[in-house]
Amino acid sequence: MEPLIHLILPLTALTLLGVDFRKALPLALFGLLPDLDALLLIHRSLSHSLPVLLAFAAGAALLAYAVKPGLRNYIVLATLATASHPILDLFTGYTPILWPLSSHSLWVKTELGVHIGGSLTLLPSVKLLAQPTTFHRLESLDAPLFTGEGLITSLILTAPLILKAVRGHYQPHTDTSQESPNEPRSQTLKIESQE
Ligand SMILES: [Zn+2]
Repeated sequence: MEPLIHLILPLTALTLLGVDFRKALPLALFGLLPDLDALLLIHRSLSHSLPVLLAFAAGAALLAYAVKPGLRNYIVLATLATASHPILDLFTGYTPILWPLSSHSLWVKTELGVHIGGSLTLLPSVKLLAQPTTFHRLESLDAPLFTGEGLITSLILTAPLILKAVRGHYQPHTDTSQESPNEPRSQTLKIESQE
């Protein structure tokens, strides 16, 4: 899957979860990390394995807890953003998502087709494909950073988020102590340091 989608989907999900856009953006960048293996000319290496990513996240969480406990929410959200990457890839090609628990790379190939003729027929298809995992270096690698479909989907998803962030930035601050206690207030997910 193209890197742009790996960035925009966690960004949108984090913002919908209530994370401020300016904090969600650096967290969403974690969604790109697994594809850094392409720089080593390996396509979908162990960086696409959920057990490996969770082991790294557990190590980072332990370290952060010892150094700065307030970082734990950042680590949980960064882990979710990173984990979204192999889950998305699982639906677009063979991914070693369970390595080393499974020596096979998996691909969930699913679609819902429609045949329109004399009658209208739905054609659902779900296949779980598997092939042995091999991490071998390629001689070269060509891949799109984004496609036309990915670009327009990303623009439509992020335009409201950016507008909201900009509008919020320029809105004058109001004294919240004046608010009626019965008035609903917008909920945001707190990820600030809790020291
Ligand atoms: Zn990938």
